[in-house]
Amino acid sequence: MLYKELAELYEKLEKTSKRLEKTHLISKLLEKTPADNLPTVVILLQGRIFPAWDERKIGVAARSVLKAISTATGIDADKVEQEWKKSGDLGLTAEKLIAKKKQATLASHDIKVDKMFQNLAALASASGEGAVERKVGLIAELLTSAKPLEARYIIRTVLEEMRVGVGEGSMRDAIVWAYFGEKLKLKYDAKENDLMISDEEREEYNKYVAAVQEACDLLNDYGKVAQIAKTKGLKGLENVSLEVGTPIKVMLFIKAKDIPDAFENVGKPAAFEYKYDGFRLTMHRNKDKIVLFTRRLENVTNQFPDVVEVLKEHVKSTNYILDAEVIGIDPKTKRWLPFQSISQRIRRKYGIHEMIKEIPVMVNVFDALQIDHDNLIHKPFAERRKKISYIVKEAPGKIEMAKQIITDDVKEVEKFYKEALAKGNEGIMAKNLDAPYKPGARVGYGMKIKPTMETLDLVIVGADWGEGKRASWLSSFTVACRDEDGNFYEVGKVGTGIKEKEESEGASFEQLTNLLKPLVVSEKGKEVKVKPKIVIELRFEEIQKSPTYSSGFALRFPRLVRLREDRGPDEISTLEDVKEAFEGQK
Ligand code: AMP
Repeated sequence: MLYKELAELYEKLEKTSKRLEKTHLISKLLEKTPADNLPTVVILLQGRIFPAWDERKIGVAARSVLKAISTATGIDADKVEQEWKKSGDLGLTAEKLIAKKKQATLASHDIKVDKMFQNLAALASASGEGAVERKVGLIAELLTSAKPLEARYIIRTVLEEMRVGVGEGSMRDAIVWAYFGEKLKLKYDAKENDLMISDEEREEYNKYVAAVQEACDLLNDYGKVAQIAKTKGLKGLENVSLEVGTPIKVMLFIKAKDIPDAFENVGKPAAFEYKYDGFRLTMHRNKDKIVLFTRRLENVTNQFPDVVEVLKEHVKSTNYILDAEVIGIDPKTKRWLPFQSISQRIRRKYGIHEMIKEIPVMVNVFDALQIDHDNLIHKPFAERRKKISYIVKEAPGKIEMAKQIITDDVKEVEKFYKEALAKGNEGIMAKNLDAPYKPGARVGYGMKIKPTMETLDLVIVGADWGEGKRASWLSSFTVACRDEDGNFYEVGKVGTGIKEKEESEGASFEQLTNLLKPLVVSEKGKEVKVKPKIVIELRFEEIQKSPTYSSGFALRFPRLVRLREDRGPDEISTLEDVKEAFEGQK
């Protein structure tokens, strides 16, 4: 398969904002993609080269791309930079300069999708001495063969800035259309931008959508799912099962207004649990192998050998996937520590054994996806919880089942809620006793109840270089919330609550600068724009309506509370949350 086909599709996708049209276009490409190429083509369509949970990053700075364009075209780096400043887009810069060059001299060669992928993967693994030069070489090699349009998308992929908007929903539907479209007699009407389908057919269609969705939930890999759909059909999809060791997205919860609201959604009676203020950990075991994943699906097994030991000692099964919240404990007072303290343990790569003594942790198990080779995700929550109790031998302060009550009485819940807060929890969770486990979905099977929002989790989208003694640091950060489609809306700037230098706790200008520098996509005077990756939690005095920011709101006196390294930009506060907080303050 040639990269040209992908580039042409990207261009079409970029030109439309209609979801159905996108789905149609993608499905047409999937249809003709050979099975062997599917994993590569699908991941490239998603604008990445590794699944979102993979720790490997392409890790190429704009400067290196600039050099590569210069090497491939023979045009002076200064000239390339001038061109870049004009459009602010290195993809377009590459396209324009390659076009110029191609007219004058070399003809382009076909780039195979595999070659493209190979070079990108090599970028990610290049490290050590001479890595920058090697990266420049790998990009320049692709550009030398590239047609102008291909150059645009090669560069955007390298910089992880695809922006063609292939969401997971479109990819899932495109898989259905591509491989079951004929069978389901699906017909996309481009003029009407509509799927011509009767109610009866719709029902059948939804069955296929659900099968693809479930396979995606379990494998977390759309390329693999497309391959199965193409080669093994519906049966193949239905046979996909949980794989111990393959990260699976956790179930998410929605916010309840209050206790009666929670009952309304999860039914009566319901389970109520402490909402521990720690971090989510999914714990997999198969035979001797134990693997730990965060909610962002990062493998943190090496950071938590103490948890691995606890599991070996206190969980009486050698095949399971358990879902838990891990909290830090003060070794002297034995009190529970707030999340900030253990956040250091998640990123710590050395000195782990000292850290274990400094900040011991306790595991609170609240759900199970598999036990003893038995897939439990379709079983009711009450049954899953019972199964956990058979294998988890509680050891106070080390591993416990989440503290739970089952009741239909608001008063009793109120008492439990107070007790939970007094113990240092964030609030409580309300859970539907009959509900299945829905990976990756924010469904109403569980609801969180916590005191009115005092903070927002926002992503940094820009920053300003400081002045005077802060001149080498980024010192004021533009933050944004998101909507359901993954668009970001600015809500303000924050520069307080941040320490000068990196210390053991709290965020510093130095640390934020180091985190953000590789994410810079453009610079203008003192202002930089960055890729939305770094999430911070902010406190504020008030929210006002404001035309200054794209959200239509502005935070007054925002103050950074902490870095939220356990959160991705897709998990931050939504525009709805901001509106709600605005309305709630009156
Ligand atoms: P939030 O992060 O505010 O959306 O709240 C949901 C998070 O609370 C989950 O992702 C867990 O990390 C955490 N949590 C703490 N205790 C529990 C519990 N008993 N059940 C489920 N989630 C919990």
